[in-house]
Amino acid sequence: MYPGGNETALKHMFNPASRTWTVATISVSIAPRAFQEGTMRYVYHLTDFSLPPGQQQCVAKLSKDPNEQKRTYFSEVEMQYKCKELAQKFNAYNLPKRIDFVDSWVVEFPNRPAPHGAGPFTVLVEPVLRGPYVKHSNNYGFVSPENRSTPQAFSHWTWVQSGGKILVCDIQGVNDLYTDPQIHSNAGHQNYLYGRGDMGMDGINHFFATHRCNGLCRSLGLPPHTGPQAMHPAFESTAVRLRPQTPIQDIYGRSYSSASTSPASSVGGISTASCGFADFGLPRVMSCPVVADVGMAFPQLPAMPMLFAI
Ligand SMILES: [Zn+2]
Repeated sequence: MYPGGNETALKHMFNPASRTWTVATISVSIAPRAFQEGTMRYVYHLTDFSLPPGQQQCVAKLSKDPNEQKRTYFSEVEMQYKCKELAQKFNAYNLPKRIDFVDSWVVEFPNRPAPHGAGPFTVLVEPVLRGPYVKHSNNYGFVSPENRSTPQAFSHWTWVQSGGKILVCDIQGVNDLYTDPQIHSNAGHQNYLYGRGDMGMDGINHFFATHRCNGLCRSLGLPPHTGPQAMHPAFESTAVRLRPQTPIQDIYGRSYSSASTSPASSVGGISTASCGFADFGLPRVMSCPVVADVGMAFPQLPAMPMLFAI
């Protein structure tokens, strides 16, 4: 338990088979300060007491954007489950390494205000990953010096498997258990399906500009990408690249202004015709990896709002 004690929160869980969300009231304890800072988010330790003992240690990810809309967290969970479904299909090829994406869910704190003051405080939560964390690629052509074959071949395969509609990149995690992926969509001019990190064909071309087909690509029979190659100097930054915030589009391709405050519950119940997902229905494989305390508080990072107000 972290300072501030336990508190009641709402846990929103996505079922990829039915494409529906369910919500449960749970007890959690969240660390007062972030222990890690990424390009887009602060990361806090969180204990989710609804999980089995030994699997309760999680991380809570809070957007740095004070105007972040609650629905964005729901869209990111759905995007990660989309990648998880693709990973299951990829594993069917029985390649040397099996891959997976961690489960994730949304936790909402009814007693804490969102940073921008509109609605309750909301974070994306997933199990802590134990072990050395490696960023294999970003969403704009970065490839880690290690240049492992499996994550690179997976990205290439998602492009081919989808018939040139999407490409999964920003592959990172511990061993081959990944988190925080990004999907680029090829949905037409100025039409992006997977949030602000979806750079569309620009991002896809940047991936293929640095991708060199490896033995796994060849064993999968993946054809070399023949589209226009992005021209840029050697890409050394691991940071993700974002499109301008306005208008915001979610994975369903719907646009919102940054001032919109539609409830996140509107995310559920979307008809399949308007949904960015096309291939759900595979058996879901639950994955709650071993967890551990992997960080310490960095006092320069912001504290949770209303920490002791519960
Ligand atoms: Zn390849």
